[in-house]
Amino acid sequence: MNAQSEEDLDYEERSWWQRHRDSLGVTACSIGVHVALLAIMAMVVLPSKPYDLTDYFTVRTEVTTNTPLETVDNIEVTPEKLNDQNVNDSASLLIPTNVLAEQPSPTSVDTEQEELQWQLDAIEYLGKNQKLGELSGRTEEARSILTKAFGGTATSEVAVSSGLKWLANHQNKDGSWNFNHTQEDCQDSCTSPGSLNNKVGATSMAMLCFVGAGHTHQAGKYQEQVKNGLEFLATQYMAAETEGDMRGIKGGNSGMYAHGIATIVLCELYGLSRDRKVRVIAQACVDFTVDSQHAENGGWRYRPNQADGDTSVVGWQVMAVTSAKMAGLTVPGRVKVRAERFLDSVQLEQGAFYGYASPSKKASTTSIGLLCRMYYGWDSKTPALGVGVDYLSATGPSKDNQYYNYYATQVLHHWGGSKWKKWNRVMRPQLVSTQVTDGHAAGSWAPRDPHGRTGGRLYATCLSILTLEVYYRHLPLYQRKLFKKEI
Ligand SMILES: [Zn+2]
Repeated sequence: MNAQSEEDLDYEERSWWQRHRDSLGVTACSIGVHVALLAIMAMVVLPSKPYDLTDYFTVRTEVTTNTPLETVDNIEVTPEKLNDQNVNDSASLLIPTNVLAEQPSPTSVDTEQEELQWQLDAIEYLGKNQKLGELSGRTEEARSILTKAFGGTATSEVAVSSGLKWLANHQNKDGSWNFNHTQEDCQDSCTSPGSLNNKVGATSMAMLCFVGAGHTHQAGKYQEQVKNGLEFLATQYMAAETEGDMRGIKGGNSGMYAHGIATIVLCELYGLSRDRKVRVIAQACVDFTVDSQHAENGGWRYRPNQADGDTSVVGWQVMAVTSAKMAGLTVPGRVKVRAERFLDSVQLEQGAFYGYASPSKKASTTSIGLLCRMYYGWDSKTPALGVGVDYLSATGPSKDNQYYNYYATQVLHHWGGSKWKKWNRVMRPQLVSTQVTDGHAAGSWAPRDPHGRTGGRLYATCLSILTLEVYYRHLPLYQRKLFKKEI
């Protein structure tokens, strides 16, 4: 297809959405009024304290649970467990056969040589199977190979499958999810609903989990759920006053979070499906992210073009534009230049450590800053990157800050080597052992971190699933260079 016909097609597709937006003008007005009402209701329902993630970045290193890690680490898959109902039910279609057959056990640690060989096999496989680019790890075959190569287990895949099943059971009829996840049959077992009222944010977080394991609106066991979720997001897109604005609600501080996460989901769905209708929405969302970046500060905050950016909101937007590039969408070069300017403004020691809105040494914000630096091209030989990774490695996974764990796990996974193995040996069994395994709430995680009250069980479950999908959700950035094979 030549460039001209590509442009024509884009124009026609944009017109297709525009026609639907126009024809839904009345509906959009109606939705707008309802959204406004919901926003007013949210102001009443939400706690008086603003939705601020500042206090969310306190990494609690003290052990506060009753289950010591030594015990947790010993909870691993056994043949008996693999025959239980979880496996036969939700997980059977998702667990790669060879992972089940060649389950690595942390109690009989495989030799370095074996693990190296698995990684070489993964690199070789990905060298030949890269149709999906940076999202190539999400096919069933690739998930199998990468899970094995980078430290996942059949147990961790069962946990992902059970989590997705819980999410599917808590989807609303209109395709959305709520942070208040409560459905009719939740009763006493499915506690800890979130207080945050942003359906776009909740829907996007849930969808991120499905798409992270390769499910799209066109393929996979959960394609119906993803399709319904996509239709909900498309409805929001058509109702928005500004094209590509997926903040969900304009009041409060959750809007740009919701927009960033929705943009990642839509970019990934386009990257995996090449569905041109999804491309139109995804590109519009990326454009909104681009237009919302503060020109001088280089960051993002709660409202578009707010001058005082923060590392937390910046992390989601940087991943949004990174996902856009992975999917082949357009991102102006100035976004990276400006985002790096923001990162420079909150860093310490040449970029080893990152603060929230000013330079400081905090583990949570450091994990976000380092992940952004990795995607923005910092080489693994960059001294500050090594210092920052050492700091996260020494800090280790948190018992109760799932947000920090989500980011830091990605950083350590990209870094690889012994530090990743050390991290994964704690992180993976900790997540598996804290998942609910019985009753209606099976597959979910109770909120454990300082921000759990607003995000609730849905938020905690999504972050836990995403953390367990790390083995294949994104390809490890530095392994490729290590083995000198470009993917
Ligand atoms: Zn429930």
